Amino acid sequence: MCNPGKKTSRPLIRVSPKPLQSVLAWLVSLSVACGIIIDTRTETDLATTLFCIMLLLMAINLFSINVVIVGAKQTEEALFRAQTQLAHVNRVTSLGELAASIAHEVNQPLAVITSSGAACRNWLSRPVPDLDEARKSLDRIINSSSRANEITSRVRALSRKCDPLRQTESLDDIVRDTLSLVRHELAHHKISPKIDLAAFTGQISADRVQLQQVIINLIINACHAMNAVQVCERTLYVRTWVKDSEVVLEVADQGSGIPANILPHVFTPFFTTKENGLGLGLSICRSIIDFHDGRIWATSATGKGSAFLFALPVLVTSESS
Ligand code: ADP
Repeated sequence: MCNPGKKTSRPLIRVSPKPLQSVLAWLVSLSVACGIIIDTRTETDLATTLFCIMLLLMAINLFSINVVIVGAKQTEEALFRAQTQLAHVNRVTSLGELAASIAHEVNQPLAVITSSGAACRNWLSRPVPDLDEARKSLDRIINSSSRANEITSRVRALSRKCDPLRQTESLDDIVRDTLSLVRHELAHHKISPKIDLAAFTGQISADRVQLQQVIINLIINACHAMNAVQVCERTLYVRTWVKDSEVVLEVADQGSGIPANILPHVFTPFFTTKENGLGLGLSICRSIIDFHDGRIWATSATGKGSAFLFALPVLVTSESS
């Protein structure tokens, strides 16, 4: 799922990404320099010497272009690393917000394990042990421990610091996984989720953890937006579908909506209308969706809630083409 083993430290001096170009530049420089020395020593035509100097300058120029290319590449990589780190911080912050819900999610199966363990012992301690009931208790213990294990694995994957890694994925599966993490959070905010996942025909090339981060951000924002409305109006719609070679996800809420003058700014880094907001969630969502060659946008009408959507290209496989 992720690639934690990849080292991120880079040496200060690096080999040019175009080694052939560099080698050619050096060879031209060397042969021209030799030409100049021979020319000036034998006092032949000055024009030939100037011509050689010109070639030498061209070669140096060619080489310096390489240096610029390496520099630009280093800057780009540094920016990418910084974005990955920021995305990680934001992911951990979102998980922090979900901590109570996640603890509750894990506590539930643990409680079942404890009570089923006690029941199993009772069935076995009877004068005539009831093996059928004991077996059922054991099944409950096994199911509940796998459930607890699933939740902790998902949280561990989300909190792990790793370089993005795109694989063939199903958006519906990613959404399902994510919903299991926020399920209790929605219940805590008294929000009824309405889920309609219909993108099963479209596979995508995606970093699962990053897309989960986008969906969690959108859902947490929707929860915040619906805090202000009456409980009976707190419905969260999460829908997926396939359209025109894209899979689309929509997270729509019934919150207060976004005023028209604010809507164009919501994806801008550090833009926030919240007292304790960082204003980074949506800008990170946009970088992640850009990284996946997709697009993300929002629609809203004041008083009628907001909808955040993203679309990602459907993977064209050899079977589908
Ligand atoms: P933060 O949540 O820290 O403010 P975000 O980048 O996630 O940062 O959101 C930026 C702003 O976009 C929010 O402060 C809010 O004004 C607006 N916003 C985002 N999602 C919603 C939503 N579902 N409903 C209303 N406003 C929203």
